[in-house]
Amino acid sequence: MSNLVDGEIRNSEPATGRPSASVPITTPSQVREAVERARKAQAAWAKLSWAERRRRLLRFRDVLNDRTDEVVDLISRETGKPRFEALTHEVIPLLDLTHYFATRAQRLLRDEPIRHHLLWPLKKGYLRFEPRGVVAVVSPWNFPFAIPMGDVITSLAARNAVVVKPSEWTPHTMLKARELVLEAGIDPDLVAVIPGGAETGAALVEATVNLVLFTGSVATGRKVGAACGARLIPFVAELGGKDAAIVLPDVDVLRAARQVVHGAFFNCGQACSSIERVLVHESIYEPFVSHVVQITGSLRQGVPLSSASECIDLGAMVVPAQLEIVRRHVQDARAKGARILTGGSVPRATSGRFFEPTVLIDVTEEMLCWREETFGPLLPIRTFREIDEAVRIANDSPYGLNAYVFSRDRFGAERLANRLEAGGVIVNDFSYQHGTPEVPWGGWKNSGIGRVHGDLRSLSEIRYVGLPRFNWTLPVAFPYTDAKYRFFHRWGRRAFRGLVSRFL
Ligand code: NAD
Repeated sequence: MSNLVDGEIRNSEPATGRPSASVPITTPSQVREAVERARKAQAAWAKLSWAERRRRLLRFRDVLNDRTDEVVDLISRETGKPRFEALTHEVIPLLDLTHYFATRAQRLLRDEPIRHHLLWPLKKGYLRFEPRGVVAVVSPWNFPFAIPMGDVITSLAARNAVVVKPSEWTPHTMLKARELVLEAGIDPDLVAVIPGGAETGAALVEATVNLVLFTGSVATGRKVGAACGARLIPFVAELGGKDAAIVLPDVDVLRAARQVVHGAFFNCGQACSSIERVLVHESIYEPFVSHVVQITGSLRQGVPLSSASECIDLGAMVVPAQLEIVRRHVQDARAKGARILTGGSVPRATSGRFFEPTVLIDVTEEMLCWREETFGPLLPIRTFREIDEAVRIANDSPYGLNAYVFSRDRFGAERLANRLEAGGVIVNDFSYQHGTPEVPWGGWKNSGIGRVHGDLRSLSEIRYVGLPRFNWTLPVAFPYTDAKYRFFHRWGRRAFRGLVSRFL
């Protein structure tokens, strides 16, 4: 059933089923107007001094810091996730990212001299980083604050304007974020939020934006990429994952089991970098599985905010269709011979969208839960005997977002990490790098194109400025003569041979 009805977004809270306030859908002509207003605001924003932009971004950091509880509660209500996750994986990383880029933007974007080699006696030059203009941000529902706001703050730090199309399942969080941006004294046209569904997103990509930062599914990523290709505008895609965790025989089994359970069920499994495939060495399979089942069984799933004193570990699932995918993957695995050791169904007596954290064994590579992105609370486990076999199975996926290695041998784990086809490989921990602004975030293969975070250059246009050292240029212009040909022929043979080439 669609949540887009009569020009409005109508959702219910995932954990309680209570209706949320409806939000008007932005029409394509309103989208184009927002982009044009943003363009004007960007010109003024780019003219401010670095110090003034930094002051305003840090004011946003302070406003967010003061209003943390309000934002945490809203995220928690709109997604059904525990308040703890809303705090530690949405608000705090954004505070840090804002501080990081606000205080470093000028340095990250300063001119970079080019050290010419062949032409050094004649030329000097540098790169200058200019704003792109209006950045379109199209985002998903699983981290409705940290993902779009990370793109907003980095785009602003690179002196751009932003128009954000939040997921139709979580529009309120981004509307609240914009309220805080305005409270920080930032021009309202500089950060526009255009709630709506696919049509609104497509209208944004087709408007006169200069760069698209898209986060979402592979299927939509392909459509957005095609639209950007048609307009020849750059595009960053942060897409799905099917991350593998390899557990080596030398681990502290209980500790590794705890980390794997967290990696699989964090955000109720609705994280692009969730652990969705576990490969455990056959020698520790039994104790590992037994710890995983015991820890999973102890997780508290429920309604966040139901009582101020009660903490939960796992909340609800945001989107009904995603719950259906989880059900389908479980049914498929059962039908093909997998065993469910804990969980496996929708808990009884709830009015929200819940699925129990589920551990599956006797899983094979034909099963959907092993091949396709589940994006829900499933933890399928298989064994391996040799490291080469683990590497082959882990890399046998169209995705390549993150991967995980658990071992006491730091050097061996590092060697293994460097054999995995993934944008990030984490040893003995779960994905922390999305919340670490200095690390570029992105995936290999179908998991995406390009990177967000890391630096601000990908959000900038680059200009090379080439300057003469003397009033003399290489004699390569008209008229071409035999003498010039002979000169360059001789020169080329000498320059790229023997001693001289060592200095190039
Ligand atoms: P989705 O692709 O359904 O939607 C993403 C966004 O695109 C939404 O805002 C949607 O309205 C918009 N959209 C839909 N059709 C569009 C079109 N034709 N043109 C422009 N915009 C359009 O994805 P989702 O269900 O919201 O998110 C879940 C997916 O996101 C999962 O696959 C998950 O792995 C992925 N994800 C990836 C990352 C990452 O960093 N790699 C992070 C979070 C989520």
